[in-house]
Amino acid sequence: MRSRTIALTVPLLIALAACDDGHDTAKPTPTVAATATSTLTPVPEPTATPAATRTATETPMPTRTPPPAASATETPTAGPTATPVLTIHDELLVSADDMMAWIETVVEQGIRRPGYPADEWAEQWIAEQFTAFGLENVELDPVEVKRWVPQQTSLTVWPDSAPQDALSIPCFALPYSAPGPAREGALTLFTGDDAAGKIAVVENPPLYLPQTVARVFSSREYDPDGEFNSLVQVLPFSPAFQNVMGPAIAGGAVGFVGIAQFPFDTRDYYVPYDAVDRPIPGVWISASDGERLKQLLGAGPVSGRITVEAAVDRVTSHNVIGRLPGASDEWIIIGSHHDGPWASAVEDGSGIAMVLAQARYWSRVPRHERPHNLLFLLNAGHVAGGAGLVAFVSRNAEWLASVVLELHLEHAAREARAEGGRLIPTDNPEVRWWFTSRIGLLEDAVEQALRAEDLRRSFIMQPDGFPPGSLAPPTDGAFFHPAGVPIVNFLTAPMYLFDAQDTLDKIHTPSLVPVSRAAIRIINALQGRTAAELRAAVRPPSSPPP
Ligand SMILES: [Zn+2]
Repeated sequence: MRSRTIALTVPLLIALAACDDGHDTAKPTPTVAATATSTLTPVPEPTATPAATRTATETPMPTRTPPPAASATETPTAGPTATPVLTIHDELLVSADDMMAWIETVVEQGIRRPGYPADEWAEQWIAEQFTAFGLENVELDPVEVKRWVPQQTSLTVWPDSAPQDALSIPCFALPYSAPGPAREGALTLFTGDDAAGKIAVVENPPLYLPQTVARVFSSREYDPDGEFNSLVQVLPFSPAFQNVMGPAIAGGAVGFVGIAQFPFDTRDYYVPYDAVDRPIPGVWISASDGERLKQLLGAGPVSGRITVEAAVDRVTSHNVIGRLPGASDEWIIIGSHHDGPWASAVEDGSGIAMVLAQARYWSRVPRHERPHNLLFLLNAGHVAGGAGLVAFVSRNAEWLASVVLELHLEHAAREARAEGGRLIPTDNPEVRWWFTSRIGLLEDAVEQALRAEDLRRSFIMQPDGFPPGSLAPPTDGAFFHPAGVPIVNFLTAPMYLFDAQDTLDKIHTPSLVPVSRAAIRIINALQGRTAAELRAAVRPPSSPPP
């Protein structure tokens, strides 16, 4: 058991929890204020859930039949008046080609940051798809997001002994770092001490996560090849996560130069994306340019000038929502987000496609074969502090008690390796995380789906505690968990997730249909279950994170 027992309000929880795809635990208050006032005990389990009463009238769960072979198509044997045996209708599945075509269409629109034209286009286009599939009550729910549009960014450095030898280093502004007039100062290779009046040069190597360590944060795994015993994953974060600028700011620096020390050469690193204004300008430079800069610093005093010009304003983005009625009065949410840091194929063009695939599939399944009402949700503002997620969870706080499951589908990613500074996609899927509430029947459903669809390289991750100290998973569905909603959040975190090189070739196409099928299996497995029943079955965390 952990020692945290103080009661936290929802806004504070949101401020503390990891927000998006891997986050620090010191997340600032989001742009959309949460209005829920319920008091939660964050760990071991929220108490703001409905009374954990299990009624005698619940439909007993039918004995699950073994998962059929992938090609099996069974005609339902029962009509609307009997409890149907739920199967997967292969003929109704969206093909990988169709999903890739959707992703391509989305990526073609360009950079899809919150409030950008491509993201506004995506909202409208998704709503049109939902409507065309026959979803009901399709709506665009307004969400205020902080839009960030970089303009001119530059970094010039020179040896103090030879100012005429000034070098211009290619760079990318840190999102939401302070725009304004150029700042000049002496450069210092920052190691956490004083940097008053200086430009801090900060090395930012990604985390190399051995899967033997990741295992500590999981409850189960499906790894038939035993790869996790030796596999090391390169995450798209340093240990500082979103707080990369924090120590330099605290040290009094007037500017920040971050060296993006990924195994591939890049400066197009869209972190932090919490939409928090930082008081100094900051830029990313590539690992190779960082090496040259360090050599220069090693040879004698160096000074430099940083210019970051950017337009920051608040605009209205939208969560896209559609609904399908089902066989119970309760709900399953199937979600992801529609924005991304670049034209981003994986993050989250693939999530859009996987949610659309669920929407189209379920729209063609008879109502009595949808075990619960279904709400399809594509959130706004993921890379602006998770604004859409925060808005949805806070606006629907009471209704969430009727949600049997929140299923998020993010990132069908190919693993990539680096070679000569270049990023090479492999044939492997990136390690798959399935953040799942501590509910045995839900974990069983996920595990059976992973096995049936052969989704190897999968961990069933615990719903909190990763990264250590987090009260929510590092997903776009994060805050459903502290709100007490049973979750299965699928996510992969390849090292290029926030990079401009997240292009179509990074999609792990062979995963698209199996993940879709796994999602259907998990939903089918909740036939006859109730939200109260699942919430009553939540286990406390068995052990503290290391
Ligand atoms: Zn995502």
